[in-house]
Amino acid sequence: MSSPAAPAEEEGRAPTKYVLITGGVVSGLGKGVTASSIGVVLKACGLRVTCIKIDPYLNTDAGTMSPFEHGEVFVLDDGGEVDLDLGNYERFIDVTLTRDNNITTGKIYQSVIEKERRGDYLGKTVQVVPHVTDEIKQWIQSVSSVPVDGQTRPADVCVIELGGTVGDIESMPFIEALRQLSFSLGKENFCLIHVSLVPVLGVVGEQKTKPTQHSVRELRALGLTPDLLACRSAQPLIGSVKEKLSQFCHVPVENILDIHDVPNLWHVPLILRNQKAHEAIIKQLNLARSAGPPELRDWTDMAESYDNLKNSVKVALVGKYTNLTDSYLSVVKALLHASVACSLKPSIQWIAASDLEDATAKTAPDAHAEAWETLKGSSCILIPGGFGDRGISGMILAAKYARENKVPYLGICLGMQISVIEMSRHVLGLVDADSEEFNKDTPNHVVMYMPEVSKTHMGNTMRLGCRRTFFSKPDCLTSKLYGSPPHVDERHRHRYEVNPSFVPMLESAGLHFVGCDESRKRMEIVELQDHPFYVGVQFHPEFKSRPRRPSPPFTDRDLPLGEKHFTR
Ligand code: GLN
Repeated sequence: MSSPAAPAEEEGRAPTKYVLITGGVVSGLGKGVTASSIGVVLKACGLRVTCIKIDPYLNTDAGTMSPFEHGEVFVLDDGGEVDLDLGNYERFIDVTLTRDNNITTGKIYQSVIEKERRGDYLGKTVQVVPHVTDEIKQWIQSVSSVPVDGQTRPADVCVIELGGTVGDIESMPFIEALRQLSFSLGKENFCLIHVSLVPVLGVVGEQKTKPTQHSVRELRALGLTPDLLACRSAQPLIGSVKEKLSQFCHVPVENILDIHDVPNLWHVPLILRNQKAHEAIIKQLNLARSAGPPELRDWTDMAESYDNLKNSVKVALVGKYTNLTDSYLSVVKALLHASVACSLKPSIQWIAASDLEDATAKTAPDAHAEAWETLKGSSCILIPGGFGDRGISGMILAAKYARENKVPYLGICLGMQISVIEMSRHVLGLVDADSEEFNKDTPNHVVMYMPEVSKTHMGNTMRLGCRRTFFSKPDCLTSKLYGSPPHVDERHRHRYEVNPSFVPMLESAGLHFVGCDESRKRMEIVELQDHPFYVGVQFHPEFKSRPRRPSPPFTDRDLPLGEKHFTR
């Protein structure tokens, strides 16, 4: 792996300018949302925006990382398995990123070591400074010049989010590279926004500035001075607190933004716009912008309509991990996008699939009873993607329940494979039907290992990224939800697939395979006949869902959800 090649420089073109977002005090401040929202506001000023996420871990990409520890693995069109923040960028800024937009320490070192082995360093001692830092700068500059919005020219602004917290050992080479970059490009090309926390202490609720002061001091000791501060706080910052932060952090008072708690994240671009964040950035970077205030009507509409949704619908999310929004972040976001379109707030009922299993009735009867009560009290059931055998029999029971009781069911990737196993076992009578992933020994592998992927390596060995699905039955429900196109392009991430030799039997039992790939052998979509909504998709529609363009499989407006389940 080596750093991406930049397109040839166009004569007379203004260079791409940079907005760097760093974080201080604590992790989990929402740097990703802040960075994406900055992108939204700049885009609304008529500027073209791209973005880079830097993750200072040694993994080459997020593909081998546990969603339990690290949140979901987001998948890009080009098959890149990346940090979930890239999902935030794609959704907020409405761009299509590449795997190179996610830089990790692993990628940088891999590239440096490859160069060293090739002899590119001509006998030099290869060191963090300058070789690793040069590689980082080169990567940033070349990837930032690749357009991500379908146009041919590079973006005006590249928003870079540096993961972690300033002062972390892991991020030091990145900080040093960014310091050098800011110095060589100059202030009119490089703007630094530091995201910090202003906690509130005591009964009087005093807003405390000291953690931010310390974190800015740390940043300045490393040679970077923030141009703007974005302070996370429960309430808007009071004037004297801003004055104090300005004085001690060396940042003009008009460049101190407060990102206070909001009812939903679509408000964040609005509060940044209201505080004129765009004006401060545009002024510093000396950018030409379109006249008038940034056009954020769509965002205002979404933020307000979501706040005003009166009815909610219970969606049972039956997975391996529960109560972990980050592990299924794009599914949760796709439900939110759909909720605005369908005027229904999703009330996600997290169910640990293993709690539904018969064995749990003996070991943890209360958890078992509660899980079933929650499942039965939900209006629809969603089984998201997943790997490994934990909870599989619970998922099969949930799919059976949905099939037999005509409860709307959406199975994504693993969720589709589950519906095939369930039908094979309980309708076709193949009691040992299974996926090769969970049982190597059965003769009835209704879900089998895909022939073209490696059996020895874990990283980057799946069918990944954007692939085409052709509708084989154009009048099927899923095709209608997509607006009846001949095919759809969705993102994939799987090693196993439906065994085509079982398809005729399953079809005759009522499970229709209504979409497949160009070979017509790989099944992509299933629908159950005589059921109001029972759909399984081998792809992950959630990755391409956008706030104003909710993913079609999530948006059946005619879904019979059963009035009894509506709550106000
Ligand atoms: N584990 C299954 C496979 O690899 C499903 C993958 C997924 O749900 N993303 O095919």
